[in-house]
Amino acid sequence: MRQIGMAGIVILAASIVVSGAHYMGARSFEWTPSNPSFIYSLVLTLGFFISIGAGFFGAIKEMNEFLIAAGTSCIVLAILNKLFANLLYSWSYLDTMWVLAGAMMILDSFQVRRVKEARRLEELTAEEQKPDSLIATLDKLEAEGQKAQPDLAPKYEKEIQEIKRLLYSGAKERPELIKKLRIRLYHSPVVQEIMKRFVEENLAVLEPTIETSETPTYPALTSLRALNPRQVNSTLNDLVESGILRKELYEKLNACPRCHRTAHVFNRIKCPKCDTYRVDINRLMQHIDCGAIYKHQEYDGLGGPVCPKCGKSIDKELELKNVGVVFECESCKGIFNDPNRSFYCRSCNNEFQLKDTELVDTHSYRLSEDAKSEAKETLTVLAVADKIQGLGFTVTAPGSMKGRSGVDHEFTLVCGRKDKLIAVDFAAAEEMVGTKTVLSSYAKFTDVVTATKLLVAMPALEQQARDFLNTNRIPFLETEDPTIISNKISQLAAAS
Ligand SMILES: [Zn+2]
Ligand SMILES: [Zn+2]
Ligand SMILES: [Zn+2]
Repeated sequence: MRQIGMAGIVILAASIVVSGAHYMGARSFEWTPSNPSFIYSLVLTLGFFISIGAGFFGAIKEMNEFLIAAGTSCIVLAILNKLFANLLYSWSYLDTMWVLAGAMMILDSFQVRRVKEARRLEELTAEEQKPDSLIATLDKLEAEGQKAQPDLAPKYEKEIQEIKRLLYSGAKERPELIKKLRIRLYHSPVVQEIMKRFVEENLAVLEPTIETSETPTYPALTSLRALNPRQVNSTLNDLVESGILRKELYEKLNACPRCHRTAHVFNRIKCPKCDTYRVDINRLMQHIDCGAIYKHQEYDGLGGPVCPKCGKSIDKELELKNVGVVFECESCKGIFNDPNRSFYCRSCNNEFQLKDTELVDTHSYRLSEDAKSEAKETLTVLAVADKIQGLGFTVTAPGSMKGRSGVDHEFTLVCGRKDKLIAVDFAAAEEMVGTKTVLSSYAKFTDVVTATKLLVAMPALEQQARDFLNTNRIPFLETEDPTIISNKISQLAAAS
């Protein structure tokens, strides 16, 4: 039995037992249904038993609503008892005991809820050992979340974030899992659009603009505007967690401590005497020739810049030296060097001090070095898969095929049309695909005897690798163009 949320029930049960014993000790039990006091006692006893039962059930089943209901009814019964004095429960301290028991049950309900939530979290953490089931849950939640009513969206969002956190926290040491998560990401249309900016449009850094919207927006992702900035930011975050993108701090923004928004926060320079923000800044300029010091604008004579002291006309750029600034209050005319400073939020009309400000990070993003060729390859693969699906093929990416040896081999793409199966392997390199990469594909190809094979090298093959494929009659392509690749697959399916 779980030792939680039982204190209130124990107090109530004990008080009933004690008062019963007290009553029996004083007089013998009499069945007098005509006596109103007897009826009260009976109803109350029944009420307390129900209360104990409900509370007990709530504590065992960890349903805090039951404990709250039991506690409330216990308090109500105690008040009723006070209003209608009766035979059984006339013992003086009982009312206090019951109110206490009721209050305890309500407090117990909070503990039950805490324990329940802790256990749920524990279960989620245990799930960490099973990334596949976590990914399945994530798929489900994301699908449901998209269909859910807008008011439920935050609830889904919270659960999704929690699962992502669990997945990514364990993924760093598990390259297999990272690979899986990356493939999953690449399948998302939003991710594909973002990656195209980096891979196809050669975007080096994705930088935000901080306009009036609260979440930073990225001009390079303008065609994604149909999605809200929060979704884009959440996707960017996933890409960072999986190591595809790297993020760098772009700027720290001041946010209002009351409404937590950054968009309408302004700096204020304030008069230390009267606290108004109607303060002007004056630059003090010295006329180098005669040593006079005046405010910058006091050198403006009618016929051009002139020194008010020596009367010479001057060249402001060359003959005046900035010797400092003073601030001047428009309200109290006070002059001071060191104004007070504060922030003002125009969203909620809140003035606050530097020490109270909240700082919000915004980031810029770059493609990780190690993800460059992977991203390029994956985008091409997905585009090819899309095209040949349009040509009536079934496609799995990545796809597996059982070889003659009984071993399952994984290929970048496995396409089928009618009874024809085609295994396609992609090999990408920064410059040239070498023989070593080609050999590992070749080993798989020789085991899947019946399938048609194709090797796609991005962007090109080393001469030695090309010779090797020619000698062994493995069809290959050297291209990054999805149309050429899908045409070739279609052609191979028709030919053999
Ligand atoms: Zn505010
Ligand atoms: Zn002068
Ligand atoms: Zn002032």
